[in-house]
Amino acid sequence: MLGKHVQQSLFFYNYEPMEISDYQILYKNYYHKYCLNFEGMKNLESLIKTYNDFPQKGIEFKDILGIMQDPEVFRELILKMSSSKVIKDSEAIVSIEARGFIFGSAISLKASKPMVVARKPGKLPGELIKENYNLEYGNNTLSIQKDLLKKFNSYVIIDDLLATGGTIECVANLIRKSGKNVCGVVTVVELMKLNGRSRFDFPVESILSL
Ligand code: AMP
Repeated sequence: MLGKHVQQSLFFYNYEPMEISDYQILYKNYYHKYCLNFEGMKNLESLIKTYNDFPQKGIEFKDILGIMQDPEVFRELILKMSSSKVIKDSEAIVSIEARGFIFGSAISLKASKPMVVARKPGKLPGELIKENYNLEYGNNTLSIQKDLLKKFNSYVIIDDLLATGGTIECVANLIRKSGKNVCGVVTVVELMKLNGRSRFDFPVESILSL
């Protein structure tokens, strides 16, 4: 049975008769946007364990792998990330090695957006574009396969966590170096005290601010 608000919006926006499958899709979108009970999201923080002094002294490492121990929370998290504006505004996703792949792949399926990966050295074949970056601990290089970036014009960046913002800035530079647009970034966790978002001129959507 369709909810009252769905019926009203169908009345205002759709004068053409629709197939039942169209109603079902509309209802599903409405349900995901307004009715989903994000009770499970309350548990999100409790599934993220903190390891002090890992991988080096002074770092408070937030381990998001516990989220995958609770598929209900993981599912609700993916639904929430997939419904973000920047995902909708983008043509495709760039997810960052390695934890970004977990969320990027699931969002790619849910939001029906193609996905490209940014990987560490020695992992990708073919012609690559590369960029160096500094981490909260250490530095590294990320690469993207040149041909794959050619297909679309606007990209959203997906990673597990935003700390200093160096990693995401590196991927944004790779996308822009290829003449493409960055619509924004979506992460599960944002470490507020590091103020990584101040480096960006595009929107940041994080689910959990710690
Ligand atoms: P940053 O470039 O400083 O924003 O670092 C973000 C990337 O490094 C993400 O891919 C995270 O997986 C990882 N990372 C950095 N700091 C942490 C932290 N405190 N806890 C967990 N992961 C982190």
